[in-house]
Order: sequence, then structure tokens, then C-alpha cells
Amino acid sequence: MGSFVGFANLPNQVHRKSVRRGFQFVTMVVGDSGLGKSTLINTLFEHKLYDLSAPRSLANGSSMNGSANGRTVAIESKSADVEENGVRLKLTVVDTPGFGDFVNNDEAWKPIVDNIDSRFDAYLEQENRVNRSKLMDNRVHACIYFIQPTGHSLRPIDIEFMRKLHHKVNLIPVIAKADTLTEDEVVAFKQRILNDIAHNNIKIFQPPVYDLEDDETIAENEEIQSKVPFAVVGSDTFVTTADGRQVRGRTYPWGTIEVDNEAHCDFIKLRQMLIHTHMEELREHTNDVLYEQYRTHKLLSMGV
Ligand code: GDP
Ligand code: MG
Repeated sequence: MGSFVGFANLPNQVHRKSVRRGFQFVTMVVGDSGLGKSTLINTLFEHKLYDLSAPRSLANGSSMNGSANGRTVAIESKSADVEENGVRLKLTVVDTPGFGDFVNNDEAWKPIVDNIDSRFDAYLEQENRVNRSKLMDNRVHACIYFIQPTGHSLRPIDIEFMRKLHHKVNLIPVIAKADTLTEDEVVAFKQRILNDIAHNNIKIFQPPVYDLEDDETIAENEEIQSKVPFAVVGSDTFVTTADGRQVRGRTYPWGTIEVDNEAHCDFIKLRQMLIHTHMEELREHTNDVLYEQYRTHKLLSMGV
């Protein structure tokens, strides 16, 4: 796949027409500082995002921009127009500072929730205009939540964060830096995370299953679903494997962990879900459920 994003193969033919007119997809990354959020964004979208204008800071009231010493110090949004097989996509990624990077960690979730809300507000404002023919959809369609690879269980701050976010975004939990855990540890950790998520009534993105789908699609969906929370490894550098291949990965004394190898981590499955199999569902759920909820609350609170 390499430099190819893959969204042009969107499976849902019903949406081909709107897709051809061009559409938008916004991915946000959230989680502790140093868990590989910025690296994963680069790994996911590679050079797609490099030829862009300088990142715009969207942090409320903050004029700080960019990153200091590679650390993300403000909420940054980067977009790129990508075209594949005649399908136009405006791809946006919203990178957020880690909890540890905020001045005040007690309310570290607040600027992130504010950012999500202001994107809803911008959409609502356009909807209320007389001419609604060209709506810019900058709402967050997918929120990748990074879990520290402790192997234990979710921390209170993770639970708090996810509970602040789950009514507003499609939450996609991932185990960060999965290369630091053994295969057995990953399996056990995934189960513990899923238990914690269920126990705390956290709602994560669940792809809908349609009756209409063929066996192959159902199998593909089940395969993706079985990997949640995705154990990811990010790397934007190429390394040479023992057998001489050039791959994106991380090298250890005992060998190389390959990003794009399904036997090594779930990166490919995560990318497949985001920009191939479930992009349309993520957009739909954002519009039909999450945004609708937000809109209703907002209008009620304004007494409309
Ligand atoms: P962020 O603060 O969450 O944005 O984290 P960064 O992307 O800046 O990465 C922090 C450090 O972790 C850098 O030194 C990365 O090279 C390293 N890193 C990123 N992803 C991974 C990973 O999947 N595995 C390992 N072992 N290190 C990673
Ligand atoms: Mg960062």
C-alpha cells in the first residue's frame, strides 16, 4: 500500500456519488504524553500531510503553535486534500498535547472537549444559514484514544477521559507502543481493557452489522472487531530486517517489529477500519447520532 491511503475503495456503493463530490474526514488523537500519538499520525498518513500549510493552532485562547522539542504543546490541526481514483477527500488530523503536557492536569480533558464542541458549533452554524448547499464538515469523526502499555488495567484518568469523550466522538481505543509488550501480555491486557470499558459503561465505536452484507464483508468486520483495542506500533523510519527487507518498524537486539505486518501488530487493521471499511460508518454515526445529540442539547439549552 505504501503511499496510498486507500479510501477510494470505500465499499459502500450507495455513497459513491457524495464521495465523488468530495468529502471530509477528521481524525483526532488523544492520550498521555509520549505514547506515540504524533508518530502514529505520521505513520497513518505518511507524507500526505507534509505538503500542507503550517499547522494551525486551535487551542482555546492559546497563541502557542507547533511543538517544542518534538512535544505537542497545543491542539494542532493539519489537513491535506488527497485524491485517489477520482475520489476527493479532505483529510484532517487533530493532534492534542498529552495529559502530562498540560499546565493544569486536573482538567486536561477540557480543551479537547472544547475543541470537539467548537467543531460541532461550526457545523450547526452553517446548517442555520439560508444557503446550506456546501457544508464544511470539520467535526471529529474518529478519536483514537491511546492507552499506556502497562499491562495492568485502565487508569482512573483514562476512565475519566473516555467518559468525557464517548458521547461526543467515536472512541477507538488503542494500546500504545505495543512493541514493549509480549504477545501474551497484549492478549491479556486487551481483555482487561475491554472488561474495564464495559464495567465503566464506556461506549466505544461498534461498527454496525447489516443483514445485507456478504460473508466476506462480515468476516472482514469480525476480524477487525476482534482486534479492538488495537495494539499499535508507530514508526516513521525505515529499518532493515534480518532478511534484508526495508520496512517501517522498530529494531531491537532480538529482531525487528514491523508496523505493516499483521503478525506483529494491529496497525494495518486500525488503518483499514479508519480509511477503508468503516470510514462511512464513522461519518454517519457522527452525523446521525453524536452530532444530533449535541444539537438537541444545545438547542434545548438555548430555549429554542
Ligand atoms: P506523543 O507525545 O504521544 O505525540 O508521542 P510521540 O509521537 O512524540 O513519541 C514519543 C516517543 O516515543 C518518540 O521517541 C517516538 O519515537 C517513540 N514512539 C512512538 N511510537 C512508538 C511505538 O509504537 N513504540 C515505541 N517503542 N516507541 C514509540
Ligand atoms: Mg505529540
